[in-house]
Amino acid sequence: MSEMKTALVTGANKGIGFAIARGLGTAGFRVGVGARDNVRRHAAVEELRSEGLDAFGVPLDVTSDESVTAAAHLVESEIGGLDVLVNNAGVGGSAEAGAQDPTTLDLDVLRTVLDTNVFGVVRVTNAMLPLLYRSATPRIVNMSSDMGSLTLQTGPQMAAYAPSKTMLNSITAQYARRFADTKVIINAACPGLVATDFTGHMGDRTPEQGAAIAIQLATLPDDGPRGGFFSEAGPIPW
Ligand code: NAP
Repeated sequence: MSEMKTALVTGANKGIGFAIARGLGTAGFRVGVGARDNVRRHAAVEELRSEGLDAFGVPLDVTSDESVTAAAHLVESEIGGLDVLVNNAGVGGSAEAGAQDPTTLDLDVLRTVLDTNVFGVVRVTNAMLPLLYRSATPRIVNMSSDMGSLTLQTGPQMAAYAPSKTMLNSITAQYARRFADTKVIINAACPGLVATDFTGHMGDRTPEQGAAIAIQLATLPDDGPRGGFFSEAGPIPW
């Protein structure tokens, strides 16, 4: 393994994920651009390379066991290890009127959102763990949202999306307990309200601003916080 550290960002072809990939690349990481669409992934890798960054494409659909297994094999064979995993890929689910009203919630919408935002994170994390364990400084960042905070309950009512982030926070805490005696540091991040396709470009924060907390948590020192939930401004209540 070379001395250069390697990061993998899921859903890195656009939005906050792309900004995280760019930020980690600028910080000196070799960056794996995890993305499910070939054209969008190639375009993102080329854009990062044109900026002089060390980027490589990782075909990755977080909802597919097969795709995630293949992604782990690719990172293993091309790099031989992994230092940072940012689980950024996420979906909001249907925004149609009533679709995320709890009293009319379509269970297929709930399943779809959980499949990406929760099961996808577990699937990718567990596939990448053997590689992360080889790192001297393994870090995992789960991109959550303060909409998942049971204390704050911010944003519009979204009965599939918000609970998916609540569960992601809970899973993050479970992993942190499991990693307590290891070098692996895991935390959940909230980017704030960011103007991306996800929000229909509503939001006063740029993808770069949204990426900042994920980059910070991906590059924590060995005595950094574990099992927390943070925005750029500091800890967020669960
Ligand atoms: P975005 O612009 O819609 O980007 C989402 C990314 O996730 C895209 O690259 C998308 O790929 C990818 N993705 C979705 N499903 C995937 C799958 N099954 N496999 C692989 N990749 C998949 O959204 P964003 O605003 O950057 O959001 C990124 C993360 O931040 C999400 O987890 C979101 O919940 C969280 N977040 C966002 C905000 C905000 O204000 N924007 C606030 C709080 C939290 P495709 O291009 O192929 O669809």
